[in-house]
Amino acid sequence: MSASTSIRPDLLRDRNFIGGIWCAGREDAWLEVVDPATGAVIGRVPDSGAVDADEAVKAASEALPSWRATTARHRAQLLKRWHARMLSSAEDLAKIISLEQGKPLAEALGEVAYGASYVEWFAEEAVRAYGDIIPAAAEGRRMMVVKEPLGVVAAITPWNFPLAMLARKVAPALAAGCTVIAKPAEDTPLTALAMMRLAEEAGLPAGTVNLVTASRGNAAVTVGAWLADPRVRKITFTGSTAVGKGLARGSAETLKKLSLELGGNAPFIVFDDADVCAAVDGLMRAKFRNGGQTCVSPNRVYVHDAVYDEFSRQLAARVAALHVGPASLAESEIGPMINSRAVEKIDRHVRDAIVRGATVLTGGLRLRDQIASGPNYYAPTVLGEANEQMTLASEETFGPVVALFRFHSEEDVVRRANDTPFGLAAYFYSRDVSRIWRVSGRLETGIVGINEGAFASEAAPFGGIKESGYGREGSRYGLEEYLATKYLCQGSLA
Ligand code: ADP
Repeated sequence: MSASTSIRPDLLRDRNFIGGIWCAGREDAWLEVVDPATGAVIGRVPDSGAVDADEAVKAASEALPSWRATTARHRAQLLKRWHARMLSSAEDLAKIISLEQGKPLAEALGEVAYGASYVEWFAEEAVRAYGDIIPAAAEGRRMMVVKEPLGVVAAITPWNFPLAMLARKVAPALAAGCTVIAKPAEDTPLTALAMMRLAEEAGLPAGTVNLVTASRGNAAVTVGAWLADPRVRKITFTGSTAVGKGLARGSAETLKKLSLELGGNAPFIVFDDADVCAAVDGLMRAKFRNGGQTCVSPNRVYVHDAVYDEFSRQLAARVAALHVGPASLAESEIGPMINSRAVEKIDRHVRDAIVRGATVLTGGLRLRDQIASGPNYYAPTVLGEANEQMTLASEETFGPVVALFRFHSEEDVVRRANDTPFGLAAYFYSRDVSRIWRVSGRLETGIVGINEGAFASEAAPFGGIKESGYGREGSRYGLEEYLATKYLCQGSLA
Protein backbone atom coordinates (compact mmCIF):
# COMPACT_ATOMS: atom_id res chain seq x y z
CA MET A 1 0.00 0.00 0.00
CA SER A 2 3.10 2.24 -0.03
CA ALA A 3 2.23 3.94 -3.35
CA SER A 4 -1.29 4.67 -2.10
CA THR A 5 -0.14 6.43 1.06
CA SER A 6 0.60 9.61 -0.89
CA ILE A 7 -2.92 9.68 -2.41
CA ARG A 8 -5.54 11.99 -0.91
CA PRO A 9 -7.21 9.57 1.51
CA ASP A 10 -10.81 10.52 0.75
CA LEU A 11 -10.32 9.50 -2.89
CA LEU A 12 -9.64 5.91 -1.86
CA ARG A 13 -13.15 4.57 -1.23
CA ASP A 14 -14.27 1.11 -0.20
CA ARG A 15 -18.03 1.52 -0.51
CA ASN A 16 -20.64 1.66 -3.27
CA PHE A 17 -21.97 5.12 -4.12
CA ILE A 18 -25.79 4.97 -4.25
CA GLY A 19 -28.18 7.88 -3.91
CA GLY A 20 -25.35 10.12 -2.72
CA ILE A 21 -24.46 7.73 0.11
CA TRP A 22 -21.37 5.58 0.49
CA CYS A 23 -22.72 2.18 1.45
CA ALA A 24 -21.43 -1.35 1.97
CA GLY A 25 -22.92 -4.14 -0.11
CA ARG A 26 -26.00 -5.82 1.37
CA GLU A 27 -24.34 -9.23 1.46
CA ASP A 28 -21.24 -8.06 3.29
CA ALA A 29 -19.18 -9.73 0.55
CA TRP A 30 -15.95 -8.12 -0.61
CA LEU A 31 -13.76 -8.01 -3.67
CA GLU A 32 -10.00 -7.62 -3.24
CA VAL A 33 -8.25 -5.17 -5.54
CA VAL A 34 -4.78 -6.23 -6.61
CA ASP A 35 -1.73 -4.36 -7.91
CA PRO A 36 -1.01 -6.10 -11.24
CA ALA A 37 2.71 -5.34 -10.86
CA THR A 38 3.13 -7.30 -7.65
CA GLY A 39 -0.05 -9.22 -6.94
CA ALA A 40 -0.31 -7.39 -3.60
CA VAL A 41 -3.79 -6.57 -2.31
CA ILE A 42 -4.22 -2.78 -2.39
CA GLY A 43 -7.79 -2.46 -1.21
CA ARG A 44 -11.21 -4.03 -1.05
CA VAL A 45 -14.58 -2.95 -2.35
CA PRO A 46 -18.08 -4.41 -2.13
CA ASP A 47 -18.82 -7.53 -4.12
CA SER A 48 -22.33 -6.35 -4.87
CA GLY A 49 -25.35 -8.41 -5.78
CA ALA A 50 -28.85 -7.99 -7.17
CA VAL A 51 -30.15 -6.05 -4.13
CA ASP A 52 -27.40 -3.43 -4.44
CA ALA A 53 -28.01 -3.22 -8.18
CA ASP A 54 -31.71 -2.67 -7.53
CA GLU A 55 -31.02 0.06 -4.98
CA ALA A 56 -28.90 1.85 -7.56
CA VAL A 57 -31.76 1.74 -10.08
CA LYS A 58 -34.15 3.04 -7.44
CA ALA A 59 -31.84 5.96 -6.60
CA ALA A 60 -31.30 6.83 -10.26
CA SER A 61 -35.04 6.59 -11.00
CA GLU A 62 -35.91 8.85 -8.10
CA ALA A 63 -33.30 11.41 -9.13
CA LEU A 64 -34.43 11.41 -12.75
CA PRO A 65 -37.49 13.72 -12.72
CA SER A 66 -35.70 16.65 -11.12
CA TRP A 67 -32.44 16.11 -13.04
CA ARG A 68 -34.11 15.98 -16.45
CA ALA A 69 -36.05 19.13 -15.54
CA THR A 70 -32.87 21.16 -14.93
CA THR A 71 -31.66 23.49 -17.64
CA ALA A 72 -28.90 22.29 -19.92
CA ARG A 73 -26.90 25.27 -18.70
CA HIS A 74 -27.18 24.05 -15.10
CA ARG A 75 -26.08 20.54 -16.02
CA ALA A 76 -23.19 22.00 -18.00
CA GLN A 77 -22.03 23.99 -15.00
CA LEU A 78 -22.02 20.94 -12.75
CA LEU A 79 -20.11 18.93 -15.35
CA LYS A 80 -17.58 21.74 -15.61
CA ARG A 81 -17.11 21.60 -11.86
CA TRP A 82 -16.56 17.85 -12.06
CA HIS A 83 -14.06 18.46 -14.86
CA ALA A 84 -12.20 21.08 -12.80
CA ARG A 85 -11.94 18.68 -9.88
CA MET A 86 -10.61 15.94 -12.11
CA LEU A 87 -7.87 18.27 -13.30
CA SER A 88 -6.99 19.54 -9.84
CA SER A 89 -6.82 15.91 -8.61
CA ALA A 90 -5.03 14.65 -11.72
CA GLU A 91 -1.93 13.46 -9.88
CA ASP A 92 -3.94 11.46 -7.36
CA LEU A 93 -6.23 9.98 -9.99
CA ALA A 94 -3.21 8.98 -12.08
CA LYS A 95 -1.61 7.28 -9.08
CA ILE A 96 -4.79 5.28 -8.47
CA ILE A 97 -4.96 4.28 -12.14
CA SER A 98 -1.32 3.17 -12.13
CA LEU A 99 -1.74 1.32 -8.88
CA GLU A 100 -4.65 -0.85 -9.90
CA GLN A 101 -4.19 -0.96 -13.67
CA GLY A 102 -0.40 -0.93 -14.01
CA LYS A 103 0.16 1.68 -16.71
CA PRO A 104 3.15 4.02 -16.24
CA LEU A 105 2.34 7.22 -14.39
CA ALA A 106 2.91 9.48 -17.40
CA GLU A 107 0.36 7.46 -19.36
CA ALA A 108 -2.05 7.51 -16.43
CA LEU A 109 -1.80 11.29 -16.34
CA GLY A 110 -2.54 11.26 -20.06
CA GLU A 111 -5.62 9.17 -19.37
CA VAL A 112 -6.88 11.65 -16.78
CA ALA A 113 -6.50 14.50 -19.27
CA TYR A 114 -8.16 12.41 -21.99
CA GLY A 115 -11.07 11.37 -19.76
CA ALA A 116 -11.52 14.89 -18.46
CA SER A 117 -11.66 16.22 -22.01
CA TYR A 118 -14.89 14.22 -22.54
CA VAL A 119 -16.44 15.74 -19.44
CA GLU A 120 -15.60 19.23 -20.67
CA TRP A 121 -16.75 18.44 -24.19
CA PHE A 122 -20.14 17.16 -23.07
CA ALA A 123 -20.57 20.07 -20.68
CA GLU A 124 -20.25 22.23 -23.77
CA GLU A 125 -22.50 19.98 -25.89
CA ALA A 126 -25.26 19.85 -23.26
CA VAL A 127 -26.52 23.26 -24.35
CA ARG A 128 -26.63 22.26 -28.01
CA ALA A 129 -29.12 19.37 -27.91
CA TYR A 130 -31.24 21.16 -30.51
CA GLY A 131 -34.48 19.91 -31.99
CA ASP A 132 -36.11 20.93 -35.28
CA ILE A 133 -39.10 22.77 -36.62
CA ILE A 134 -40.33 20.94 -39.69
CA PRO A 135 -42.26 22.77 -42.45
CA ALA A 136 -45.84 21.62 -41.97
CA ALA A 137 -46.85 18.71 -44.19
CA ALA A 138 -50.53 19.64 -43.86
CA GLU A 139 -52.38 22.91 -43.42
CA GLY A 140 -53.09 24.14 -39.93
CA ARG A 141 -50.31 22.19 -38.29
CA ARG A 142 -47.11 22.80 -36.44
CA MET A 143 -44.54 19.97 -36.58
CA MET A 144 -41.67 19.99 -34.12
CA VAL A 145 -38.93 17.66 -32.97
CA VAL A 146 -37.55 17.84 -29.45
CA LYS A 147 -34.70 15.86 -27.92
CA GLU A 148 -35.38 14.31 -24.53
CA PRO A 149 -33.18 12.31 -22.15
CA LEU A 150 -33.67 8.54 -22.44
CA GLY A 151 -33.91 8.00 -18.68
CA VAL A 152 -31.81 5.78 -16.45
CA VAL A 153 -28.60 4.66 -18.19
CA ALA A 154 -26.47 1.68 -17.09
CA ALA A 155 -22.76 2.04 -17.88
CA ILE A 156 -20.49 -1.01 -17.76
CA THR A 157 -16.83 -0.27 -18.18
CA PRO A 158 -13.57 -2.16 -18.79
CA TRP A 159 -10.24 -2.13 -16.94
CA ASN A 160 -7.91 -0.84 -19.67
CA PHE A 161 -8.93 2.83 -19.33
CA PRO A 162 -10.72 2.82 -15.97
CA LEU A 163 -11.19 6.58 -15.87
CA ALA A 164 -11.63 7.55 -19.51
CA MET A 165 -14.18 4.85 -20.37
CA LEU A 166 -16.34 5.84 -17.41
CA ALA A 167 -16.04 9.56 -18.17
CA ARG A 168 -17.02 9.21 -21.78
CA LYS A 169 -20.19 7.36 -20.82
CA VAL A 170 -21.27 9.22 -17.70
CA ALA A 171 -20.60 12.74 -19.03
CA PRO A 172 -22.83 12.57 -22.14
CA ALA A 173 -25.56 10.77 -20.19
CA LEU A 174 -25.64 13.48 -17.51
CA ALA A 175 -25.36 16.22 -20.12
CA ALA A 176 -28.42 14.82 -21.88
CA GLY A 177 -30.42 14.83 -18.63
CA CYS A 178 -30.21 11.09 -17.95
CA THR A 179 -29.24 9.61 -14.59
CA VAL A 180 -26.61 6.88 -14.39
CA ILE A 181 -25.91 3.58 -12.69
CA ALA A 182 -22.43 2.25 -13.33
CA LYS A 183 -20.38 -0.87 -12.74
CA PRO A 184 -16.63 -0.69 -13.27
CA ALA A 185 -14.47 -3.69 -14.15
CA GLU A 186 -13.53 -5.93 -11.25
CA ASP A 187 -9.80 -5.29 -11.80
CA THR A 188 -10.11 -1.50 -11.52
CA PRO A 189 -12.91 -0.29 -9.24
CA LEU A 190 -10.83 2.22 -7.25
CA THR A 191 -10.47 4.77 -10.05
CA ALA A 192 -14.22 4.71 -10.65
CA LEU A 193 -14.93 5.22 -6.96
CA ALA A 194 -12.50 8.17 -6.87
CA MET A 195 -14.43 9.65 -9.79
CA MET A 196 -17.64 9.32 -7.77
CA ARG A 197 -16.02 11.16 -4.87
CA LEU A 198 -15.14 14.03 -7.21
CA ALA A 199 -18.66 14.02 -8.66
CA GLU A 200 -20.01 14.28 -5.12
CA GLU A 201 -17.61 17.12 -4.38
CA ALA A 202 -18.62 18.89 -7.59
CA GLY A 203 -22.20 18.95 -6.30
CA LEU A 204 -23.91 16.50 -8.65
CA PRO A 205 -27.25 15.87 -6.92
CA ALA A 206 -27.69 12.61 -5.00
CA GLY A 207 -28.77 9.76 -7.26
CA THR A 208 -27.78 11.37 -10.57
CA VAL A 209 -24.75 9.11 -10.73
CA ASN A 210 -24.46 5.84 -8.80
CA LEU A 211 -21.84 3.15 -8.82
CA VAL A 212 -21.70 -0.44 -7.59
CA THR A 213 -18.63 -2.66 -7.65
CA ALA A 214 -18.68 -6.41 -8.14
CA SER A 215 -16.42 -9.39 -8.77
CA ARG A 216 -16.36 -11.04 -12.18
CA GLY A 217 -18.64 -13.74 -10.80
CA ASN A 218 -21.20 -11.17 -9.65
CA ALA A 219 -20.95 -8.97 -12.77
CA ALA A 220 -23.61 -11.09 -14.43
CA VAL A 221 -25.82 -10.83 -11.33
CA THR A 222 -25.64 -7.04 -10.88
CA VAL A 223 -25.79 -6.23 -14.57
CA GLY A 224 -28.38 -8.96 -15.04
CA ALA A 225 -30.67 -7.14 -12.59
CA TRP A 226 -30.30 -4.01 -14.71
CA LEU A 227 -30.96 -5.85 -17.96
CA ALA A 228 -34.23 -7.21 -16.61
CA ASP A 229 -35.37 -3.89 -15.13
CA PRO A 230 -37.73 -1.86 -17.34
CA ARG A 231 -36.73 1.34 -15.51
CA VAL A 232 -33.28 1.06 -17.13
CA ARG A 233 -33.63 2.46 -20.63
CA LYS A 234 -30.14 2.20 -22.00
CA ILE A 235 -27.01 0.08 -21.65
CA THR A 236 -23.68 1.58 -22.63
CA PHE A 237 -20.86 -0.94 -22.59
CA THR A 238 -17.19 -1.19 -23.47
CA GLY A 239 -15.65 -4.64 -23.30
CA SER A 240 -15.46 -7.96 -25.06
CA THR A 241 -17.66 -9.00 -27.96
CA ALA A 242 -18.82 -12.09 -26.07
CA VAL A 243 -20.12 -10.08 -23.11
CA GLY A 244 -21.55 -7.40 -25.44
CA LYS A 245 -23.60 -10.01 -27.28
CA GLY A 246 -24.82 -11.31 -23.92
CA LEU A 247 -25.98 -7.81 -22.98
CA ALA A 248 -27.81 -7.47 -26.30
CA ARG A 249 -29.56 -10.78 -25.72
CA GLY A 250 -30.28 -9.98 -22.07
CA SER A 251 -31.84 -6.61 -22.82
CA ALA A 252 -33.96 -7.88 -25.69
CA GLU A 253 -36.92 -8.56 -23.40
CA THR A 254 -37.16 -4.89 -22.41
CA LEU A 255 -35.75 -3.60 -25.73
CA LYS A 256 -33.24 -1.20 -24.27
CA LYS A 257 -31.21 1.09 -26.43
CA LEU A 258 -27.61 -0.14 -26.57
CA SER A 259 -24.20 1.32 -27.26
CA LEU A 260 -21.62 -1.43 -27.57
CA GLU A 261 -17.95 -0.70 -28.00
CA LEU A 262 -16.50 -4.17 -28.37
CA GLY A 263 -13.35 -5.96 -29.44
CA GLY A 264 -11.28 -5.11 -32.47
CA ASN A 265 -8.67 -6.76 -34.65
CA ALA A 266 -7.17 -3.65 -36.21
CA PRO A 267 -5.16 -3.93 -39.40
CA PHE A 268 -2.23 -1.54 -39.89
CA ILE A 269 -1.10 -1.35 -43.52
CA VAL A 270 2.21 0.05 -44.72
CA PHE A 271 2.12 0.57 -48.49
CA ASP A 272 5.23 0.71 -50.65
CA ASP A 273 4.75 4.46 -51.12
CA ALA A 274 4.63 5.12 -47.34
CA ASP A 275 7.06 7.21 -45.39
CA VAL A 276 8.58 4.24 -43.56
CA CYS A 277 9.95 6.25 -40.62
CA ALA A 278 6.56 7.88 -40.06
CA ALA A 279 4.85 4.49 -40.28
CA VAL A 280 7.18 2.99 -37.66
CA ASP A 281 6.55 6.00 -35.47
CA GLY A 282 2.77 5.73 -35.91
CA LEU A 283 2.82 2.02 -35.13
CA MET A 284 4.85 2.58 -31.96
CA ARG A 285 2.27 5.11 -30.77
CA ALA A 286 -0.73 3.06 -31.78
CA LYS A 287 0.54 -0.30 -30.58
CA PHE A 288 2.38 0.26 -27.34
CA ARG A 289 0.07 2.65 -25.53
CA ASN A 290 -1.14 0.87 -22.40
CA GLY A 291 1.14 -2.07 -23.21
CA GLY A 292 -0.95 -2.91 -26.25
CA GLN A 293 -4.08 -3.32 -24.13
CA THR A 294 -6.38 -1.08 -26.13
CA CYS A 295 -9.24 -2.07 -28.39
CA VAL A 296 -7.88 0.03 -31.29
CA SER A 297 -4.41 -1.47 -30.93
CA PRO A 298 -3.05 -2.69 -34.30
CA ASN A 299 -3.23 -6.47 -34.21
CA ARG A 300 -2.21 -7.34 -37.79
CA VAL A 301 0.52 -5.27 -39.40
CA TYR A 302 0.62 -5.71 -43.18
CA VAL A 303 3.83 -4.46 -44.79
CA HIS A 304 4.42 -4.28 -48.55
CA ASP A 305 7.16 -6.58 -49.74
CA ALA A 306 9.20 -3.66 -51.10
CA VAL A 307 9.53 -1.97 -47.69
CA TYR A 308 9.22 -5.01 -45.43
CA ASP A 309 12.92 -5.39 -44.61
CA GLU A 310 13.47 -1.70 -43.91
CA PHE A 311 10.29 -1.42 -41.84
CA SER A 312 10.92 -4.55 -39.78
CA ARG A 313 14.52 -3.53 -39.05
CA GLN A 314 13.55 -0.07 -37.83
CA LEU A 315 10.60 -1.39 -35.85
CA ALA A 316 12.51 -4.19 -34.10
CA ALA A 317 15.18 -1.71 -32.98
CA ARG A 318 12.59 0.65 -31.54
CA VAL A 319 10.66 -2.13 -29.79
CA ALA A 320 13.79 -3.72 -28.33
CA ALA A 321 14.61 -0.35 -26.71
CA LEU A 322 11.28 -0.09 -24.85
CA HIS A 323 11.68 -0.10 -21.11
CA VAL A 324 9.46 -2.57 -19.25
CA GLY A 325 8.82 -2.12 -15.57
CA PRO A 326 6.42 -1.12 -12.82
CA ALA A 327 4.47 2.13 -13.00
CA SER A 328 6.35 3.34 -9.96
CA LEU A 329 9.59 3.73 -11.98
CA ALA A 330 9.79 6.89 -14.08
CA GLU A 331 11.60 5.15 -16.95
CA SER A 332 8.92 2.48 -17.45
CA GLU A 333 7.20 2.62 -20.84
CA ILE A 334 5.41 -0.74 -20.68
CA GLY A 335 3.87 -1.82 -17.38
CA PRO A 336 2.62 -5.22 -16.28
CA MET A 337 -0.31 -6.81 -18.07
CA ILE A 338 -3.56 -6.60 -16.13
CA ASN A 339 -3.53 -10.16 -14.73
CA SER A 340 -2.13 -13.64 -15.23
CA ARG A 341 -5.00 -14.57 -17.58
CA ALA A 342 -3.88 -11.78 -19.91
CA VAL A 343 -0.19 -12.77 -19.91
CA GLU A 344 -1.06 -16.40 -20.53
CA LYS A 345 -3.19 -15.46 -23.55
CA ILE A 346 -0.40 -13.33 -25.03
CA ASP A 347 2.13 -16.11 -24.54
CA ARG A 348 -0.25 -18.64 -26.09
CA HIS A 349 -0.59 -16.45 -29.20
CA VAL A 350 3.18 -16.02 -29.50
CA ARG A 351 3.94 -19.75 -29.02
CA ASP A 352 1.28 -20.64 -31.58
CA ALA A 353 2.73 -18.16 -34.09
CA ILE A 354 6.25 -19.53 -33.65
CA VAL A 355 5.07 -23.10 -34.16
CA ARG A 356 3.33 -21.97 -37.36
CA GLY A 357 6.46 -20.36 -38.80
CA ALA A 358 6.80 -16.84 -37.33
CA THR A 359 10.31 -15.52 -36.72
CA VAL A 360 11.02 -13.66 -33.48
CA LEU A 361 12.65 -10.33 -34.34
CA THR A 362 12.68 -9.20 -30.71
CA GLY A 363 11.03 -10.31 -27.45
CA GLY A 364 8.78 -13.34 -27.59
CA LEU A 365 8.78 -14.33 -23.96
CA ARG A 366 7.38 -13.69 -20.50
CA LEU A 367 9.63 -11.67 -18.22
CA ARG A 368 9.04 -13.86 -15.20
CA ASP A 369 12.60 -13.85 -13.98
CA GLN A 370 13.89 -10.62 -15.49
CA ILE A 371 11.60 -8.27 -13.56
CA ALA A 372 11.64 -8.72 -9.85
CA SER A 373 8.34 -7.13 -8.92
CA GLY A 374 5.97 -9.75 -10.30
CA PRO A 375 4.95 -12.31 -12.91
CA ASN A 376 2.70 -10.26 -15.20
CA TYR A 377 5.27 -8.74 -17.56
CA TYR A 378 5.66 -9.62 -21.22
CA ALA A 379 8.59 -8.58 -23.41
CA PRO A 380 7.66 -6.15 -26.20
CA THR A 381 7.68 -8.44 -29.20
CA VAL A 382 7.95 -8.25 -32.97
CA LEU A 383 7.16 -11.38 -34.97
CA GLY A 384 8.05 -11.58 -38.65
CA GLU A 385 6.53 -13.65 -41.47
CA ALA A 386 3.13 -13.99 -39.81
CA ASN A 387 0.32 -15.73 -41.68
CA GLU A 388 -3.44 -16.08 -41.43
CA GLN A 389 -3.31 -19.57 -39.91
CA MET A 390 -1.89 -18.14 -36.68
CA THR A 391 -4.31 -17.50 -33.81
CA LEU A 392 -3.12 -13.89 -33.53
CA ALA A 393 -4.43 -13.20 -37.03
CA SER A 394 -8.01 -13.83 -35.96
CA GLU A 395 -8.03 -13.10 -32.20
CA GLU A 396 -7.16 -9.87 -30.44
CA THR A 397 -3.85 -10.41 -28.60
CA PHE A 398 -4.26 -7.38 -26.28
CA GLY A 399 -0.59 -7.11 -25.40
CA PRO A 400 2.75 -5.72 -26.60
CA VAL A 401 3.05 -8.03 -29.60
CA VAL A 402 3.38 -6.91 -33.23
CA ALA A 403 2.92 -9.48 -35.97
CA LEU A 404 4.19 -8.54 -39.45
CA PHE A 405 2.41 -9.96 -42.49
CA ARG A 406 3.82 -9.46 -46.00
CA PHE A 407 1.65 -8.34 -48.89
CA HIS A 408 2.12 -7.59 -52.57
CA SER A 409 -0.96 -5.79 -53.86
CA GLU A 410 -3.50 -3.26 -52.65
CA GLU A 411 -6.37 -5.47 -53.69
CA ASP A 412 -5.03 -8.40 -51.69
CA VAL A 413 -4.24 -6.42 -48.54
CA VAL A 414 -7.61 -4.68 -48.38
CA ARG A 415 -9.35 -8.04 -48.71
CA ARG A 416 -7.19 -9.51 -45.93
CA ALA A 417 -7.64 -6.46 -43.71
CA ASN A 418 -11.42 -6.80 -44.00
CA ASP A 419 -11.41 -10.57 -43.54
CA THR A 420 -12.46 -10.46 -39.88
CA PRO A 421 -15.77 -10.26 -38.03
CA PHE A 422 -14.50 -7.11 -36.31
CA GLY A 423 -14.60 -3.54 -37.58
CA LEU A 424 -13.40 -1.02 -35.04
CA ALA A 425 -10.23 0.68 -36.31
CA ALA A 426 -7.84 0.41 -39.24
CA TYR A 427 -4.65 2.30 -40.02
CA PHE A 428 -2.68 2.75 -43.21
CA TYR A 429 0.34 4.67 -44.39
CA SER A 430 0.58 5.90 -47.97
CA ARG A 431 1.56 9.09 -49.81
CA ASP A 432 -0.59 8.44 -52.87
CA VAL A 433 -3.67 10.68 -52.71
CA SER A 434 -5.82 8.46 -54.94
CA ARG A 435 -4.93 5.40 -52.89
CA ILE A 436 -5.71 7.24 -49.66
CA TRP A 437 -9.28 7.94 -50.75
CA ARG A 438 -9.73 4.54 -52.36
CA VAL A 439 -8.48 2.49 -49.42
CA SER A 440 -10.14 4.58 -46.72
CA GLY A 441 -13.43 4.04 -48.57
CA ARG A 442 -12.97 0.29 -48.72
CA LEU A 443 -11.85 -0.48 -45.18
CA GLU A 444 -14.76 -1.90 -43.18
CA THR A 445 -14.20 -0.15 -39.84
CA GLY A 446 -15.69 2.69 -37.82
CA ILE A 447 -12.37 4.53 -37.61
CA VAL A 448 -9.50 4.87 -40.08
CA GLY A 449 -6.13 6.38 -39.16
CA ILE A 450 -4.49 7.67 -42.35
CA ASN A 451 -0.80 8.38 -41.80
CA GLU A 452 -1.76 8.73 -38.14
CA GLY A 453 -1.30 6.35 -35.22
CA ALA A 454 -3.17 8.24 -32.49
CA PHE A 455 -6.59 9.47 -33.57
CA ALA A 456 -8.60 9.42 -30.34
CA SER A 457 -10.17 12.75 -29.44
CA GLU A 458 -13.21 13.90 -27.52
CA ALA A 459 -14.20 15.85 -30.64
CA ALA A 460 -14.38 12.72 -32.82
CA PRO A 461 -16.87 9.82 -32.96
CA PHE A 462 -15.32 6.64 -31.54
CA GLY A 463 -16.93 3.29 -32.32
CA GLY A 464 -17.12 0.35 -34.66
CA ILE A 465 -19.16 -1.64 -37.13
CA LYS A 466 -19.66 -5.40 -37.61
CA GLU A 467 -18.98 -7.36 -34.40
CA SER A 468 -17.10 -4.42 -32.91
CA GLY A 469 -20.51 -3.08 -31.99
CA TYR A 470 -22.54 0.05 -32.57
CA GLY A 471 -23.03 3.50 -31.12
CA ARG A 472 -20.48 6.31 -30.95
CA GLU A 473 -18.71 8.02 -28.06
CA GLY A 474 -17.39 11.57 -28.17
CA SER A 475 -18.31 14.34 -30.61
CA ARG A 476 -21.84 15.59 -31.20
CA TYR A 477 -22.82 12.03 -32.18
CA GLY A 478 -21.94 10.93 -28.63
CA LEU A 479 -24.71 13.04 -27.10
CA GLU A 480 -27.34 11.64 -29.49
CA GLU A 481 -26.83 8.18 -27.98
CA TYR A 482 -28.52 9.39 -24.78
CA LEU A 483 -31.39 11.31 -26.37
CA ALA A 484 -34.79 10.21 -27.61
CA THR A 485 -36.32 12.03 -30.58
CA LYS A 486 -39.86 13.14 -29.87
CA TYR A 487 -42.12 14.46 -32.61
CA LEU A 488 -44.78 16.97 -31.53
CA CYS A 489 -47.63 17.63 -33.91
CA GLN A 490 -50.09 20.38 -33.10
CA GLY A 491 -53.21 20.59 -35.25
CA SER A 492 -56.34 22.73 -35.65
CA LEU A 493 -54.29 25.90 -36.14
CA ALA A 494 -56.10 27.14 -39.21
P1 ADP B 1 -12.30 -8.17 -20.67
O1 ADP B 1 -12.23 -9.53 -21.30
O2 ADP B 1 -11.46 -7.17 -21.32
O3 ADP B 1 -12.15 -8.20 -19.17
P2 ADP B 1 -15.13 -8.10 -20.40
O4 ADP B 1 -16.11 -7.92 -21.50
O5 ADP B 1 -15.04 -9.44 -19.79
O6 ADP B 1 -13.74 -7.64 -20.99
O7 ADP B 1 -15.38 -7.04 -19.25
C1 ADP B 1 -15.88 -5.75 -19.47
C2 ADP B 1 -16.90 -5.39 -18.42
O8 ADP B 1 -17.97 -6.32 -18.51
C3 ADP B 1 -16.38 -5.47 -16.98
O9 ADP B 1 -16.98 -4.46 -16.22
C4 ADP B 1 -16.88 -6.84 -16.54
O10 ADP B 1 -17.04 -6.95 -15.15
C5 ADP B 1 -18.21 -6.90 -17.23
N1 ADP B 1 -18.72 -8.27 -17.39
C6 ADP B 1 -18.01 -9.41 -17.50
N2 ADP B 1 -18.84 -10.46 -17.64
C7 ADP B 1 -20.10 -9.97 -17.59
C8 ADP B 1 -21.41 -10.55 -17.67
N3 ADP B 1 -21.59 -11.86 -17.86
N4 ADP B 1 -22.46 -9.73 -17.60
C9 ADP B 1 -22.31 -8.41 -17.43
N5 ADP B 1 -21.12 -7.79 -17.36
C10 ADP B 1 -20.03 -8.57 -17.43
